Amino acid sequence: MKLVFSTNNQNKLLEVQKMLPPEIELLSLKDIHCFDDVEETEDTLEGNAKLKANHIRDNYHVNCFSDDTGLEVEALNGRPGVYSARYAGEPANAENNIEKLLGELQGKTNRKAQFRTAICLNLNDEEFFFEGVCKGMIIDEKRGTKGFGYDPVFIPDGFDQTFAEMNEADKNRISHRGLAIQQLTDFLKSKFA
Ligand code: IMP
Repeated sequence: MKLVFSTNNQNKLLEVQKMLPPEIELLSLKDIHCFDDVEETEDTLEGNAKLKANHIRDNYHVNCFSDDTGLEVEALNGRPGVYSARYAGEPANAENNIEKLLGELQGKTNRKAQFRTAICLNLNDEEFFFEGVCKGMIIDEKRGTKGFGYDPVFIPDGFDQTFAEMNEADKNRISHRGLAIQQLTDFLKSKFA
């Protein structure tokens, strides 16, 4: 069975393909000649994941899944959440997003936060949702140069390094995205094994 992962990140694709049973052939957006820019207009991670997955199902008529991730900070009532990518406005980048986050948290003692990934899978006209959560805390200055986004200011629970100080394999093992993908691949294995 062919399954489209709505990404163009070849590393992500290979990582997930390794976790799937051989009956499932993972394809990227490029593989199906999809170059559409789907705007993430929903106000939940699940909503955006579904929007992107449904766009592919409706226009390309293939089984597919999409993900959406946000950083949810307790002292900010869950912000930036679904708006994590463009928290500091346009043009958004990791630098100004982190600057805004640390500014909003200045003087706050509750530093608890979590990354959350929602996945929407469209399989033979049925929709399935999966979730991965990684809990941790936001520190008050950047540490490390690896990773992307908010990685330099996020320390996952049980560790003393930020995501930006960890190597990629260690991060993937405990990350929100890794956990959500694990849920998805466990489900697919149970269906196709
Ligand atoms: P996306 O849904 O994977 O595109 O993620 C949306 C935004 O959340 C990104 O632009 C980043 O700012 C942030 N983000 C998502 N995943 C991570 C992560 O693993 N580390 C740090 N920031 C992340």
